Amino acid sequence: LVSELKNNESPVIKVAGSDIDGILRGKYIEKDKFESACKGGFGFCSVVFGWDSSDVTYDNVTFTGNHTGYPDVNVKLDPNTYRTIPWESKIPFFLLDFYKDDGKPLPICPRQLLKKVIDQCRDAGFEPMMGMEFEWYNYLEDNHSLHAKKFQDLDPMSRGMFGYSTLRTSQYQSFNKALWDVWKFGIPLEGLHTETGPGVFEVAIKFSGALEAADRATLFKSACKEIAHRQGIMASFMAKPNVNLPGCSGHMHQNFNSLDGKKNLFINEKHPNEMSDTFKHFLAGQLMLLPEFLPFYAPTINSYKRLVDGYWAPTTPTWSYDNRTVSIRVIRGGKAMRSEFRVTGSDVNPYIAIAASFAAGLYGVLNKIPLKDQPIQGNSYDYYKKGQVSRLPRTLNESTEALAKSKVAKELLGEDFVNHFVSTRRWEYRQFNNAVHPWEIERYLEII
Ligand code: GLU
Ligand code: MG
Ligand code: MG
Repeated sequence: LVSELKNNESPVIKVAGSDIDGILRGKYIEKDKFESACKGGFGFCSVVFGWDSSDVTYDNVTFTGNHTGYPDVNVKLDPNTYRTIPWESKIPFFLLDFYKDDGKPLPICPRQLLKKVIDQCRDAGFEPMMGMEFEWYNYLEDNHSLHAKKFQDLDPMSRGMFGYSTLRTSQYQSFNKALWDVWKFGIPLEGLHTETGPGVFEVAIKFSGALEAADRATLFKSACKEIAHRQGIMASFMAKPNVNLPGCSGHMHQNFNSLDGKKNLFINEKHPNEMSDTFKHFLAGQLMLLPEFLPFYAPTINSYKRLVDGYWAPTTPTWSYDNRTVSIRVIRGGKAMRSEFRVTGSDVNPYIAIAASFAAGLYGVLNKIPLKDQPIQGNSYDYYKKGQVSRLPRTLNESTEALAKSKVAKELLGEDFVNHFVSTRRWEYRQFNNAVHPWEIERYLEII
């Protein structure tokens, strides 16, 4: 790798790590710093994990916030994440992990959290496997008029609701090709198509181990925005930009393999087209913990506008075979037996959502939680209307307070992480709650 870097013409390398919202934060550093950045690491401003006055503590020391003056935190570059950026003159790129002063993983770093959960799965004999999908809206960028317009009344890249349109993919061929080329950046795609809604695209990223899947998912969102910008397009991964149009999912296809990778442990050995007990307990764990884990899957104020009836997004903690109205869709595709976890929107932090969902599934398996509920037949929204199933929390505030009380979340993901995450969600809710929204102006300003 060192000689490969030497041969690369670029004098710099680009490094970045995921912040608490899954947004990449990083910088260019001198190429000569590569080796020391892998071994000893370097200092990176801790502001990426919180905002002013978030009073976060770990090891009984307040970490971010005004109190500390935002100290540096140690980051190390992960050499396994090496890629070159095709659309940035092949500059070498690496992901970063955050560490505490004592050299241990920083508990509030999303990538470190996922690595911890993967170790827990492996200790129990399971290799977590994942493939992520994203839907997103594309808008015409129009020379930054987006900012001047304050993102109101934007022009979508194309009109109509047109899912799986071969006309649209042909019309936007250069954008599609540039997107498909993310494989050159180490993000192989399995599929790319238009999804229902004006200017909506969807990709499925190829299946892999869970850490690689989270890296690819996080990098894809950022890569997609960078590539789109070069085509005069603004790609948005907001979950529900328009109340009258479908929202954007970030579905997670998941299964456990055996540690040697030879077996899909979600397949029932005696009846290969049925779910194994491991799979059933996995689902039961995820469903049981869904209401209190919801902020990990629906982390923004806006996420909850997507989780409403009638748009193929789930509203209840339910499962079924090949059904798009439930939280977990079981896909019995022979060797590809897996679950499609449908709660997550495209606004998730992939590291956190993947970590939380595997931790919840593993909890179900280790505690042999029975899958009591029958699969939903038909439309899950009707089950709720008839009072046969419960409703997921409807707001970030509601779900965050459920998470704050969750003993299991703290047990599985660590108290430091959960407390920090809760405090950032409370901050987000306060910001929202204190703001005067356009809806209020329209409704009250003149008439009241
Ligand atoms: N757009 C839907 C959602 O927000 C998902 C559609 C699909 O199943 O692909 O969840
Ligand atoms: Mg879709
Ligand atoms: Mg899907």
